[in-house]
Amino acid sequence: MLIGQFYGTSAAEGIPAPFCRCPVCLEAREKKGKYQRKRSSFRLSDSIILDLGADAVTQSFDYGDFVDIDHVLVTHTHDDHLNPHMMMEAFWGARCGYRDTPLHYYMTEQAYEIVDAWRQNRWVLKGMVPGWEKENIVEFHKLQYGERTEIDGIGVTPFRGNHVGNMRETSALYLLELPDGRNLFYGLDSGRYFPETIEALSKHRIDIFISESTGGARPTAPESTHMNLEDVRQLVDVLLAQGTLHKDSVLYLTHINHHTGHDEMEKVVRRLHFPIETHVAYDGLKIL
Ligand SMILES: [Zn+2]
Ligand SMILES: [Zn+2]
Ligand SMILES: [Zn+2]
Repeated sequence: MLIGQFYGTSAAEGIPAPFCRCPVCLEAREKKGKYQRKRSSFRLSDSIILDLGADAVTQSFDYGDFVDIDHVLVTHTHDDHLNPHMMMEAFWGARCGYRDTPLHYYMTEQAYEIVDAWRQNRWVLKGMVPGWEKENIVEFHKLQYGERTEIDGIGVTPFRGNHVGNMRETSALYLLELPDGRNLFYGLDSGRYFPETIEALSKHRIDIFISESTGGARPTAPESTHMNLEDVRQLVDVLLAQGTLHKDSVLYLTHINHHTGHDEMEKVVRRLHFPIETHVAYDGLKIL
């Protein structure tokens, strides 16, 4: 069953950021609700989640247990998106008798090298990862950019993002073909898209576009590996012109850092006159 819920919509620091008293973080501490953002994660369906990151345990307090999650699509290996401790949680779930299938992790090409680091280092989860693989607690899969695979009824194709993870890999932006025929694109983290990615996307249609917008209203250097709202606006123009997006596509902005508060995000979105329906996402928002 599709769920389509944002479990977290912040950039790496979270809002409020623990060591910060800037106006955005102060407002989040006071008003809570949509002003607070946990680290980015999106529950696509009962069985599929995009990233199990730094806030996964408290996200399960908010949105219910993770017992039915079997597949984790990893965007990249930064700690805010990929929290190895969640394998330990899956192990405990199995020990308590609530799970009898592995938690499958999917990573692209070079990101997959983190699996060997997990297998070989005793300081990662007390060296238990190889044992958990043997016991079918976890299983790892390598995906190739541009190659489609099917995971529990969802077509999944990763595209190369302009963002460098801990293994020096590029990030994976996921095109997800939903059972109802709509295509959802989960685009984080990335700076301005590589020409090869724009070109590869020209052969696809996106109905629901979830984009990072880390820099919000702030200027972002062209070489940055994140985007601000103006960068996303330009990207939408390009994708619209080549038919990847269409007039009925809907855009959701996520992965937002603590320099732009929720209300200001909405204000700048209005000022920039996005040509398609556009929403600033918030934690708990359900879109499917
Ligand atoms: Zn991130
Ligand atoms: Zn702050
Ligand atoms: Zn990142």
